[in-house]
Amino acid sequence: MATRTILTDKDPILHKICKPVEKFDERLWQLLDDMADTLKKADGVGLAAPQVGVLRRVFIMDVGDGLRECINPTILEERGVQECTEGCLSSPGEYGTIKRPATVKLQAQNRHGKFFIVTLDGLAAQCASHENDHLDGILFKSKVERMLTPDELR
Ligand code: ZN
Repeated sequence: MATRTILTDKDPILHKICKPVEKFDERLWQLLDDMADTLKKADGVGLAAPQVGVLRRVFIMDVGDGLRECINPTILEERGVQECTEGCLSSPGEYGTIKRPATVKLQAQNRHGKFFIVTLDGLAAQCASHENDHLDGILFKSKVERMLTPDELR
């Protein structure tokens, strides 16, 4: 069990574009394992590698149906729109309303480099869209329509 520090959105690392993963080796597996521990401890639904200071195209998510590891992800298709309330582990205590695709068709590689394609909807689509944005240095606050006020968060 090893957790890593989650950077906040003031950190310049979170605004950079991540590089593809080329080696599917023990170093990657250690990163994935540490990210899983970090996500669990933070009680979040998704975490991208740049949030723990690693500029590689990796994110993990767990919206309650098990852990999903996505390496070098590509969104092949987006369908529909959902109006979401969203936050980010790198922006603690801040939430806003945002539009995300209702359905996302995602291609990625697993920890051994094997390609897979999955179709996600609802919270999973929102999460994949949010985490995929992190890999291009895009934070939810740059897309948010309206930040919730402290009163609305109660
Ligand atoms: Zn985030």
